Amino acid sequence: MGNHSHKIVRNKVIAGLQDAESRKGRFKAFDAIRPAMRQMVKSYPNLSDQLRSIKQYSIDHLSDMIILAKTSLESKGCHVFVAETTEEAQNYIANLIPQGIAVKSKSNAGKEINIAHFLEDRGISVIETDLGDRINQLAHCEASHSLAPAIHIPIEKVTELFSEEAGEQLECNHEALVVAARKGLRDYLVKADVGISGANAIAADTGSVFLTENEGNIRAVTMMPKTHIVIAGVEKIVPTLENALQVVRAAAVYGVGQDIGTYVSVISGVSTCTDPEMEELAHGQGPKEVHVVLLKHGRVEAINEGFDETLYCISCGSCLNFCPIYEEVGGKYGYKYLGGRGLVFAAFHGDLEKSEENGLSLCIGCQKCKTVCPVQMHTPEMLWKLRGKAVSQQGLGWKKDLIFSMLTKPKALPTVTKLVSKFGGVVLKKVHEGMKARVSLPSMGLPNSRVIPKVTDTSFLQTAKPKSVKNPVKKVGFYPGCVVNYTESAMGEALLHVMGENNVQVQLAKEDVCCGIPSIVSGDIAHSKAMALRNIEIYSKFDMDAFVFVCPSCAAAFKLEYPKLFADANQEIRKKVQLLADKVKDVNQFLMEDIQLKKPNVIVSEKITYHDPCHLIRSLNVSEQPREILRILPGAEFIEMKEADACCGFGGSFSISFYNLAQRINQSKLKAIEETQATTVATSCPGCIVHIQDGVTQNSMKQRVVHTVQLLSEAYGRGRYV
Ligand code: SF4
Ligand code: SF4
Repeated sequence: MGNHSHKIVRNKVIAGLQDAESRKGRFKAFDAIRPAMRQMVKSYPNLSDQLRSIKQYSIDHLSDMIILAKTSLESKGCHVFVAETTEEAQNYIANLIPQGIAVKSKSNAGKEINIAHFLEDRGISVIETDLGDRINQLAHCEASHSLAPAIHIPIEKVTELFSEEAGEQLECNHEALVVAARKGLRDYLVKADVGISGANAIAADTGSVFLTENEGNIRAVTMMPKTHIVIAGVEKIVPTLENALQVVRAAAVYGVGQDIGTYVSVISGVSTCTDPEMEELAHGQGPKEVHVVLLKHGRVEAINEGFDETLYCISCGSCLNFCPIYEEVGGKYGYKYLGGRGLVFAAFHGDLEKSEENGLSLCIGCQKCKTVCPVQMHTPEMLWKLRGKAVSQQGLGWKKDLIFSMLTKPKALPTVTKLVSKFGGVVLKKVHEGMKARVSLPSMGLPNSRVIPKVTDTSFLQTAKPKSVKNPVKKVGFYPGCVVNYTESAMGEALLHVMGENNVQVQLAKEDVCCGIPSIVSGDIAHSKAMALRNIEIYSKFDMDAFVFVCPSCAAAFKLEYPKLFADANQEIRKKVQLLADKVKDVNQFLMEDIQLKKPNVIVSEKITYHDPCHLIRSLNVSEQPREILRILPGAEFIEMKEADACCGFGGSFSISFYNLAQRINQSKLKAIEETQATTVATSCPGCIVHIQDGVTQNSMKQRVVHTVQLLSEAYGRGRYV
């Protein structure tokens, strides 16, 4: 990413972080939606899998779907226009509305082609009828949430806007404002010549347009004017009426935690009302003309470039409700379509630069969006792919290029740190003797109080001495990863101790290199492959039953990313990569599943809470095993924290590039920790430990933050780690 884009993103982040009102609005909405959604999803355990296969089939057969839908819609009297580009769609619609008023309901595709502004520039009065969108229209600002577009505007401001519109001072309460909005909108609905809507789904077999909502405005927009224009991306087409119903159900279940939207409109053709008396009362009898604009705009290119999964999206907004970046910076993250998915859309609409300027580098890769998405869309993976596209077009930038190329060599981290220290103005100061350091990064615009571990010149691999075990129950290889190797060697020592206590032989490499995850998520395939190859060469030679990790990001690199990196390599390499990947185990998983864990007997009288690292819970599916370990610690009390699986904000280089945002995300984690009154925070990722510890220290909190394996080691009598 160029310096220019980076500067824009940084400024957006700062603006987002400073907008306290919006943040308050988002958190209020999340507090209501998240529990409702989680509860409702339980009632529909198969919905997500079913929906994903419906969407997959539809996108795999997109050309057929378009033909079928067009035929069915036309057979019901609708006019269908397949628009290749934004301009084609805009011009077609503009020709249908030479003058007058158009009332409009929420439409993502409408927003994509900027239809409201396009028509207004041609003298048409476009009135938004969704309450939130109407507030934004009057306030001249953009939507900040797909389902609650005006959550960033306080009620006092809404009162001011509506009072001005009504020509009288309104009371500042929700009821009065809704009454005023309804009255104003009703007048426009009666006068309007045209109603413009989007579509949640289009059933190809019956040519039915499905729309779901809670306000009732969509129903009015599609019923009252004589002409109805539907603007929908071609991906909204699904094979059958039943499939379309699944889409609208999923939008309600995942988007707002309802079993179905309050109103579901199914429009199958033009109004067939022929009663002449009714003609007098044309409004409310349904439109005589229905136009369906099916928008292609880059979608076929997206499929051809391997981004087809993006088109599974049903725009339910669930990913936004759980994304830590969106949570903190709101509408500043995304372009037209909000959040990470919006950046993918922007890129395949031909605007990679817009994608970069609106947060391509911001995604922390927590994967939370994927787990709450009804179509299981892997947004971060697509964003990484896009970063790769950006790197192949513009290069990596000299700083990253230099750092990643150094990381392909062994013993690189101390040198990289020194280099950053020399040229990046980093000043290390000791905070806890020999253990932590405060780092000042003035040239990167960071505060000077960040607490990071001290980087040592001698690695864990150079000094560690695994216990020699006679007749081991298992033989494992251990990959420490950069953080343990050069800063948090205590975690490596704890692992060796625990394995020794359990009669497991550990084999270590003399030297290895970074797992490559920082370069993988930056889209730097060349350096990622170089690092991966070096590690594969070293660890393939190990005689081991399992390959264990204390760092889930490193484990995910070996297990999930290396096979993807070498998917096109020769058979010999692919075999080596897969054999290694199959042996990868997080340490908690290995201890609970692969051996009969020795019962610990030393009292650990602590109140312990647990933070789920993103890569551990969502990449490796490990969440119960660490908790089981904590529960068997003698004398310890285990207490769950709220949103234990929410990201802490670390994200590797993310927390260097966007430290202020990383710390803001961390604040929610720290609050959840405080609420448990725990004395110890356990987690199973060295990166999370470093980041949470930073927050704990800066907020003068008292908890210690340790790896689960350290606590187990304590319970085997090793002594207290911190
Ligand atoms: S991976 Fe995390 S940060 Fe990235 S878009 Fe998804 S939820 Fe947001
Ligand atoms: S990506 Fe998934 S969760 Fe996000 S809006 Fe689309 S369907 Fe909903």
